[in-house]
Amino acid sequence: MAKSSVRYGAELRRRAEAVQKSKRAKYACFKCGKKNVKRISYAQWRCRSCNAKFAGGAYSLSTTVGETGRRIIQDLKRNA
Ligand SMILES: [Zn+2]
Repeated sequence: MAKSSVRYGAELRRRAEAVQKSKRAKYACFKCGKKNVKRISYAQWRCRSCNAKFAGGAYSLSTTVGETGRRIIQDLKRNA
């Protein structure tokens, strides 16, 4: 019992670290392609190269849902 609660705590800590890392990371801009997109506020991202603003995930630019959507659009374009 005690052992599993310690393991759970470590897992939470690891996840929190991953969130912190992705919050600070820079992301590639959808518009100019430069890796200069930074989080400016909750779910708001801005490219420091071209000033484009994006609404993204709360802690990282692309959410899993967004990724899936983009992939579907790319597939549609390829098949068109
Ligand atoms: Zn840009």
